[in-house]
Amino acid sequence: MSEPLMMTYQRLPVTFDHGAGVWLWDENGKRYLDALAGVAVCGLGHAHPAVRDALCEQAGRLIHTSNLYRIAEQERLGAMLTALSGMDRVFFGNSGAEANEAAIKLARLHAHHRGIENPAILVMENSFHGRTLATLSATGNRKVQAGFEPLVQGFVRVPYNDLAAVETAAANRKNIVAVLVEPIQGEGGINIPADGYLPGLRAICDREGWLLICDEIQTGIGRTGRMFGFQHTGISPDVITLAKGLGNGMPIGACVARGAAAEVFAPGSHGSTFGGNPLACRAARAVLETIAAEDLVAHAAARGAALLSALRETLAGTQGVVALRGRGLMLGIELDRPCGALVGLALEEGLLINVTAERVVRLLPPLILEAPEADHLVAGLSALIKRFLGAH
Ligand SMILES: *Cc1c(COP(=O)(O)O)cnc(C)c1O
Repeated sequence: MSEPLMMTYQRLPVTFDHGAGVWLWDENGKRYLDALAGVAVCGLGHAHPAVRDALCEQAGRLIHTSNLYRIAEQERLGAMLTALSGMDRVFFGNSGAEANEAAIKLARLHAHHRGIENPAILVMENSFHGRTLATLSATGNRKVQAGFEPLVQGFVRVPYNDLAAVETAAANRKNIVAVLVEPIQGEGGINIPADGYLPGLRAICDREGWLLICDEIQTGIGRTGRMFGFQHTGISPDVITLAKGLGNGMPIGACVARGAAAEVFAPGSHGSTFGGNPLACRAARAVLETIAAEDLVAHAAARGAALLSALRETLAGTQGVVALRGRGLMLGIELDRPCGALVGLALEEGLLINVTAERVVRLLPPLILEAPEADHLVAGLSALIKRFLGAH
């Protein structure tokens, strides 16, 4: 039998049939605790009634009209996002990569308006920004780029969490116009920078006239225990990009900007056929309303702190555990050896986890995770990690 799908993913041998809250069931009725949430997407868990009802109601009313007309749901969602972020304007696309593409185009156009002919954007080692040509060129991972050369030009790379390297780049490269940075690196291994890092970047950007662009595609929408990752600091970026958690699984991405950055695009500069359609925006509005109504950002902060300390307790002194780190419900357990095999072992045990950067177990559970479910996760995962480290 020929395979109908391109081999872009090494898929695990399981097909899910339905879900409820933090749980998924496969075709054979086996139950799994979902500690990945579709890679930080399903913050409200699976089959949340608010999202279901919003989608059903909107699908029965209006799904799509194109951006040639005003879209009330898009304007509503835009107003919610600008209020939550303290920013001024939003462009909607359909994915994280598209949100970053918009931010990259915005930074370049802003530079050209100011007479800078050959603008460059400062990006970080171990970053992840997407799989389109511009975003994979911005990504700091050779595996993502290999074979797709020539890469898009106009990116200058420095180590993450290293302000001195940014200062050196500022001194040597006069065509830098923006910094693109994740407040916490997700794919790169749950790398949490020093508290002074984002404020330091903000100060350099202010001094040099650069835009500060935060890729909040993974850290945004409550994931880290604040609505946006940058809100752990006192500073405000010029641009943030959003996607993953915004639609709880409905594809939607957003590029949100303030001040001069919000005024860069004009009719004809950028666009999307589907971006910001009534259905996707209605789903995202239901997500934001539910997060507010159920106080899920504070919940994620508290639940995440409890989860991290429970993992620290059960894994304390375990040979082979190098570090445990997390903010809100974005957690990483770094081991001293490659541990991709843990994903399959966890699946057998009914736990959905992820391994990134080869040695980091990554947990991104739904924001609605409750204490008994967290206990179940800690017990199952700790035992599994100890067994794995003992046997390997
Ligand atoms: C997932 C992710 C992206 C890409 O989002 P897609 O929706 O897969 O295009 C970009 N940046 C970060 C930080 C991400 O985690």
